This record gives sequence, C-alpha cells and structure tokens, in this order.
Amino acid sequence: MIDPYGRSITYLRVSVTDRCDLRCVYCMSEDMTFLPKTELLTLEELDRVCSAFVDLGVKKLRITGGEPLVRKNVLTLFDSLGRHLKTGALQELTLTTNGTQLSKFSDGLKASGVRRINISLDSLDAARFKSITRWGNHAQVMEGIRAAKAAGLKVKINTVAMRGVNEEEFDDLVAWCGAEGFDLVFIETMPMGDITGDRTDQYLPLSMVRARLARRWTLDAIPDNTGGPARYTRCAETGGRVGFITPMTHNFCESCNRVRLTCTGMLYMCLGQDDDADLRSPLRASESNAPLLAAIHEAIGRKPKGHDFVIDRRHNKPAVSRHMSVTGG
Ligand code: SAM
Ligand code: SF4
Repeated sequence: MIDPYGRSITYLRVSVTDRCDLRCVYCMSEDMTFLPKTELLTLEELDRVCSAFVDLGVKKLRITGGEPLVRKNVLTLFDSLGRHLKTGALQELTLTTNGTQLSKFSDGLKASGVRRINISLDSLDAARFKSITRWGNHAQVMEGIRAAKAAGLKVKINTVAMRGVNEEEFDDLVAWCGAEGFDLVFIETMPMGDITGDRTDQYLPLSMVRARLARRWTLDAIPDNTGGPARYTRCAETGGRVGFITPMTHNFCESCNRVRLTCTGMLYMCLGQDDDADLRSPLRASESNAPLLAAIHEAIGRKPKGHDFVIDRRHNKPAVSRHMSVTGG
C-alpha cells in the first residue's frame, strides 16, 4: 500500500478497547463515558481486519487501547495473530500497555510471539504515579514490568514529559532504565480529547528535556531503526537508548508509515486529523474480504500529508476531539 505522498504503509496500530483501568490526567477525564460493548468489533472481526492488512503488506501490528489487556480474552487475539509471524508475513506483533495486567499476561504474550513491549510509566514515585494515573497502583505496575522482563520480553518505557509534574525525575528514569536494560522514550503531551484542566500548563517541549538531560548524561544521536517517530540517542554512561517523540516541536509526518484502527472498526489515516474510514460496514457486509480490501485501498488514498497539532494559549481546545484512548496513541 502506497499513499498519495509515496509513503509505504507497513504498520497498523489497533485499539482493541477504549476502556482502561487507569485515568491518566493527560489522556482521560475521571468520568469518561465509554462505548457500549455492542459497538466493538469482536476479537474474530479484529483478527479478520488485521489479517487483511497483513495480506496488503503490513509488517508490524501494535495492539493498544485504552488498555488492551483489559479486553476480555485478548490473549486469543494475540495467539491467532501470531500465525502470521510463523509464516513470515508479519515481522512484529507488539503492544502498548500501562502494565497493570502484565503479571498475569507476560508469559502468554511471549508464547503468542510478542518479543517487544511498550510500557507506559510516568513516574518511579508511588504517590506521584497515583496522582498522574488517578487510579493506579505503582507496586502492581512495577510487578508487571518485572514479570515482562522475566518472561524475556524486551521492554521499552514510555514517559509523557509534564511540566511541574514529573520533570525532576527524568535523570532517575534514565538511570533506572539503563540499569534494567530498558529503552526509554519521552513523549510530549498532545492535544487530544477534552480532559479536566489545561494542557498548556503540562506541555514541556522535549528540546528542553534533552538539554537538561545533557547536563548529566552523554546522549549520542544514533540512527533510528525502529521505524517509528522516535529520535534515538545512546546514553554513554548507562549504555541504554533514550528516545524522544516530539510531535509538537518536530514534524515527523514525512516518514509516516502507519494507520490506526479503532475498536469499532474506524480507520484513522492520521493521529492528528479527524478524517476516517468505516471498515466495519464492508467487513460485515460480506463473508468475502473484497469489500473490506476495497475500503482499505480507498482510505489509504486519502492519507493526509501531516497533522495540525498546535498547543498554545490561542488554541486551548484539543486539535482533535477524540481521546488518545480511541486511536491508541
Ligand atoms: N493504556 C496503554 C498505555 O497507557 O500504554 C495504551 C494506550 S495509551 C493511549 C498509549 C500511549 O499514549 C501512552 O504511552 C500514553 O502515555 C500516551 N498518551 C495518552 N494521551 C496522551 C496525550 N494527550 N499526549 C501524549 N501522549 C499521550
Ligand atoms: Fe489508560 Fe493508557 Fe490513557 Fe493512561 S494513557 S488513561 S493507561 S489509555
């Protein structure tokens, strides 16, 4: 699949639920209304759509949410998608998780063919973790992270950088990830969905984070080989990789290789735009995949050049109205 700007689409991110067992302040309001479960694609339907994308050349699938591991029986989806790894059609099956369920699921994920996993962790401090996630239990997540490591999964920690919230911990996170053998990626807050409070207060440009880290650490730029928007450095002192995802300060759209599927079967061609394509109707219209494949091709033909994210005082409304939990970040 080649889009109108010549970009090859090889990466599909799939949100399998909009629900979550946490309420991170930058992501959700505390009283979120979730979709009725009847709106969701079944796990079999999710498998069918993902498999269609694999047939069309997708090489990497990331399962996300909401919290993907709170979707009932989600491991059966990983198990069934794992068949594409065995044939070689798919190169990577992975997920992004908040880590709360990893004690339970790490071994099963490894068995299904998952090798790498992104775990979101914004603080090493239990009280601060609680105030960021509202409902989170830090010990439970740390236990989950240990389970993932013990299962042999390669761990990448995602940390959203927030002004006045977790900024004093970044050195500690670099040291901890380095010692554990985890990659660490900092993310800027993105203006997605209404949350309680003002995002301009939280927004911290990663150029500042990087400059501050450079006082203590030697961060040498290394070529990005993960196919994602992160720009990587190698920390000379720990040997670990430290990455930066800067959607707000650095426009990475020219190399975008991905599209995103929601749990209701809507395809978003860009995280930062509202245009979407309904794949659920063609999926359910026929047992043949022909209508679905045609809808996917039509959608890829509409992939926009880039996003329109802006955070400043004049634009204090979200750039896109849906929450990150809908398209999975
Ligand atoms: N629940 C899982 C988790 O937290 O990893 C997966 C879904 S979550 C939406 C995926 C990633 O998006 C997380 O790393 C989270 O920190 C990030 N995220 C959520 N809302 C964001 C926002 N407004 N700006 C930047 N990152 C955000
Ligand atoms: Fe849940 Fe992930 Fe959003 Fe936090 S960032 S509320 S864990 S979906």
